[in-house]
Amino acid sequence: MENSAIAEHPMKAIGWAAHDTTGHLSPFHFSRRETGENDVRFKVMYCGICHSDVHMVKNEWGSTIYPVVPGHEIVGLVTEIGTNVQKFKIGDRVGVGSMVGSCHSCQLCDSNLENYCSKMILIFGAKYLDGTITYGGYSDFMVADEHFIVRIPDNLPLDASAPLLCAGITVYSPLKYYGLDKPGMNIGVVGLGGLGHVAVKFAKAMGANVTVISTSPNKKKEALESLGADSFLVSRQEDQMQSAMGTMDGIIDTVSAQHPLQPLIGLLKPNGKLVMVGITDKPLELPILPLITGRKLIGGSGIGGMKETQEMIDFAAKHNITADIEVISIDYVNTAVERLLKADVKYRFVIDVANTLK
Ligand SMILES: [Zn+2]
Ligand SMILES: [Zn+2]
Repeated sequence: MENSAIAEHPMKAIGWAAHDTTGHLSPFHFSRRETGENDVRFKVMYCGICHSDVHMVKNEWGSTIYPVVPGHEIVGLVTEIGTNVQKFKIGDRVGVGSMVGSCHSCQLCDSNLENYCSKMILIFGAKYLDGTITYGGYSDFMVADEHFIVRIPDNLPLDASAPLLCAGITVYSPLKYYGLDKPGMNIGVVGLGGLGHVAVKFAKAMGANVTVISTSPNKKKEALESLGADSFLVSRQEDQMQSAMGTMDGIIDTVSAQHPLQPLIGLLKPNGKLVMVGITDKPLELPILPLITGRKLIGGSGIGGMKETQEMIDFAAKHNITADIEVISIDYVNTAVERLLKADVKYRFVIDVANTLK
């Protein structure tokens, strides 16, 4: 079974895959389709390591198809284009994020919200319409429909812009959709990891006063000095939280661990919005009374459509926003995953695929 799924396409590829729920990654030979008429093929230069990669390789969401080649923050250089491709040419700097397909005909797709299409195809561990398996960016090259490819502007470094394709769009999209992008707004960012640190940068570039809310007081200096946040709250210190009650227009909550929502709802002004973008493993307790008495809203958001993803990258280029990264060799990937699980990275690992995947 496994082998028939592997040897379906003419183009030989190499990547790093997990074969079971241990999530251990090792070199893996597979194949990709030839460049179709609407396809762009590109050499992978860098690929970020996102927490979702780890959930998927361990099958924590129950949907993983093994062997799985993770990676959904992928950037590289175009090596071949299909005959119908309009937007890209050989040598262009491009990227692909979490999606490689959608139905293109539903109301959501028509509204540039392919990310919410029920037929959306994930970049790895899923199936194309023809039944073959999708493989992600911990691999030597990618091929995808040009609709799902974005252009990386020349002034953005490829390595540090790779994480924008998931972490960046995951925080940019809710800031826009929930109207939290107006200059002068008070915006909170909960959690200072891969998502949180870029949320601070985007919100600052939109003109917000940004407060980082974290359990660790030792992140204060960095939040204020290197990331440019305006203030910092230690969520476990009640006096600090109390002093900021009712001050925020919106909060982007990036935390995936269990945590109380009540104090965050308390930070919001009336009509304020708390947006969840971290995927928690268990349901959180949601107090309703403070929502009702302040007409507050709690919402969610997941990545963004392709039009908005390009808009986010162009915004990042204009404001010089990139992720803070630690570039690693692919041989280091299992160690990197262990360190990521301990939040021992500032703030994103990015694999130097082109120089280290042989
Ligand atoms: Zn991700
Ligand atoms: Zn659709």
